[in-house]
Amino acid sequence: MNRFQGGYAGRILYVDLTDGTIDNRPLPREFAEKYIGGRGFSSRILLDEVPADVDPYSPRNVVVIASGALNGLPMPSASRLVTATKSPMTGALGDSNSGGYFAPELKYAGFDAIVVRGASKEPVYLFIKDGQAELRPAQHLWGCKVHESHQKIVAETNDEDTHVLVIGPAGENMVRYACVVTDKESVGGRCGIGAVLGSKRLKAIAVRGTRDVKIADPPRFKKVIDDYLVSIAGEAWTESLRRLGTPFLTEHRQTLGIWGAKNFQSGIVEGGEKISGEVFRKKFLVKPLGCMACFIRCRRYSAITAGDSPFYTKGPEYESIHALGAKPNVTDPETILRAHYLCDEYGMDEQSAGSAIAMAMELFERGLLKRDQTDGQELTFGNGEALLYFIDKIASRQGFGDLLAEGTKVMGEKLNAEYYAIHVKGLEVDAADPRKQETRALTYCVATRGACHLRGNPYIDEFIKPEEAEAYFGTAAVSDINSLEGKGKMVAWSEDWVTLSDLMGICKFAWYRSRDFSMLVKRGLDMVAEAYQAATGIPMTSREMYRCGERVYNVEKIFNLRQGFGRAADYPPERFFREPLPTGPAKGAVLNREHYDRLLNDYYEARGWSPESGVPTPEKLKELGLASDEIQ
Ligand code: SF4
Repeated sequence: MNRFQGGYAGRILYVDLTDGTIDNRPLPREFAEKYIGGRGFSSRILLDEVPADVDPYSPRNVVVIASGALNGLPMPSASRLVTATKSPMTGALGDSNSGGYFAPELKYAGFDAIVVRGASKEPVYLFIKDGQAELRPAQHLWGCKVHESHQKIVAETNDEDTHVLVIGPAGENMVRYACVVTDKESVGGRCGIGAVLGSKRLKAIAVRGTRDVKIADPPRFKKVIDDYLVSIAGEAWTESLRRLGTPFLTEHRQTLGIWGAKNFQSGIVEGGEKISGEVFRKKFLVKPLGCMACFIRCRRYSAITAGDSPFYTKGPEYESIHALGAKPNVTDPETILRAHYLCDEYGMDEQSAGSAIAMAMELFERGLLKRDQTDGQELTFGNGEALLYFIDKIASRQGFGDLLAEGTKVMGEKLNAEYYAIHVKGLEVDAADPRKQETRALTYCVATRGACHLRGNPYIDEFIKPEEAEAYFGTAAVSDINSLEGKGKMVAWSEDWVTLSDLMGICKFAWYRSRDFSMLVKRGLDMVAEAYQAATGIPMTSREMYRCGERVYNVEKIFNLRQGFGRAADYPPERFFREPLPTGPAKGAVLNREHYDRLLNDYYEARGWSPESGVPTPEKLKELGLASDEIQ
C-alpha cells in the first residue's frame, strides 16, 4: 500500500546482481520528507551503502537510479533522472542528470528509485513492469551500440512504450567516463556511471508502467502550475533555448573570451563563427525536441544526410561544441557533430573525451608525447580526423585510446604531466573558462562531483539588487560584481537552491536563470514548496524545503570527506592561477590565489564548515538532523 497521498510511487527496488535477488521495499516516509527525491535519495543511499574503502569497480559499489519528487506529474519540465555512484573518475560521489521520459515512467511502473548492488557474472538487463522486476540475459546485447541496444530491448518487451536506460561499448570496456543513455538520446554524461554499470555487467534497465501518480490536492496543484508558467513566460533565457538550444551559448562564450579553447590555453576560438549555434541550426537542424511536460523544448534533432555515412542524432548541446570543438580547436561543424554522434553511440561523456584528446594535443605540440605513442597520429590542435579516430579507439580501448579512456587526471599521473590536466577532483572543467569570474571558479571547485557549472549559480551578482543582496546575504556588496564580500555566502546559497531542482526532478533550464532575483527565489522555493505540498500532501514551508537542499549538499560533502577529499581538493587547476588568458576580450584574466583563499574561507564559514578542513561542525550537523558520527 502506498503510504503517500500523492507524488511518490512509494516503493524502492533493490537489485543484487551477485545473487540475482530482487527486493521491493516501501519508501519510508521520514526518508522522503528529509531527502525529497532524485539526488537527495541517491546521495543519502550512497552515504549509507558505500564504505570509504570501496573501489568504484568493486561489486560493493552501488548505483542508484532515482526519480525526482515531481516526476510523473504535469509539472513543467519535471522529467529529470538522477543516476549516481562512487565515481571512477573522481573517487568521490558522482551523479549524472538526464531528461527524456525514463524518470516519469519509473514512477508509473511503481518505483521512486532503484538501488543496484553486486555484480553479475554474465551480462544481464533489468526489466521492470508495473511493480514487478526480473533480470534477463543480455549476452546478445553485449557489444551493441546505444541505438541498437535500445531497439532490441524494446522489441523484446513487445511494447513500444518501454523506456530504456543503456550503456554502450564504452561502458562495457569500462572507459572511465562512460555514460548512461536513456531512450537513445538523453545522456547522463558525467562521472562514469556507465563504467560502473559495465563493471557490474548490467547492460540496461527497461521500464514500463501504466499506473497513475496521484496528486493529493489537484486544484491547488493546478494553481501552482499556472503561476509557475506565468513566472517563466517571456524569459529571454528560455526564448534563446527554444530557438537555438544550448548552442546559443557559443556566441556568448566567444564574445566574453571564455571559451576554454586549446585545452584552456586560450579564451577564444580562431574561426569560432564557423561553429556558432546559428551555424548548427542552419546546417543540421531537423526539428526541436522536448522532454516530457516541457514547454521550452531546447533539445535538437540534427542530421547529416549526404555522404558515405549519414546519421541522425539528438543534439548537439553547447557542451558538445565546447568539448569537441573549442577544447581540441576543431572548427569544422560536421566533424564536431559526427564526433558528438559517435560519443553518444559508444556511450561516453563527450566532455571528458574531448578534454582527454585536447590535453593529448597540447602534450603532443609541446613534444611531451611522440608519434610512436599516439598510434602514429599527428595529434595537433585542429586535427578533426585525429579527433574522430581517437573517439573510436577510446571506446574500444585500443592503442593510445586505452590511455585516453582513463581521463585527464590519470593521464597526467601516468605521463608525468599533471599541470596540463584541467580538472577538479578528477572531473574535467566544463562549460567555460573561470579565470574571468572568481565566483565561477569557486562554484566549479567546491562542487561535490568535481568541476561542474550546474551545481550552483555564481552569476547572481550580475542582477541582484542591493536591497535584495542586503536582505538575503547580509551585505549590499553582493550586488557589486567587482567585490568579493558576501560571495562565499552567495555561492553556498545558490548551491542549496540549485540542489532543490535535482530533488524535484525539474530541469535547471526552467529553474536556473532569470534577470530577477526575487523571481528566482519565488519560483525556485515558494512555488516549488507549494507544488510539493499540493502533490504529496506533506506540509513543507519554503524554509524547510531550502533546508532539504542544504542537508543533501552536506551529505555529499560527508561522503567525499570520508574518501579523503579535504580543503586541497577544492582548488582550481594551477593553470588558472599561473597563466593569464593571452588574448581576446578577457585578455589578462587570471585567478588570484589570495582572493581565492578568501572566497573559500567565506564559503566554508557560510556553510558552517571548518575553515581549515571543510568539515561540517557538530552544530551544523545537528541543525540539519544529521548524526555527528556520520563523517567517520
Ligand atoms: S529545457 Fe530542454 S533539457 Fe530541460 S526539460 Fe525542457 S527540453 Fe528537456
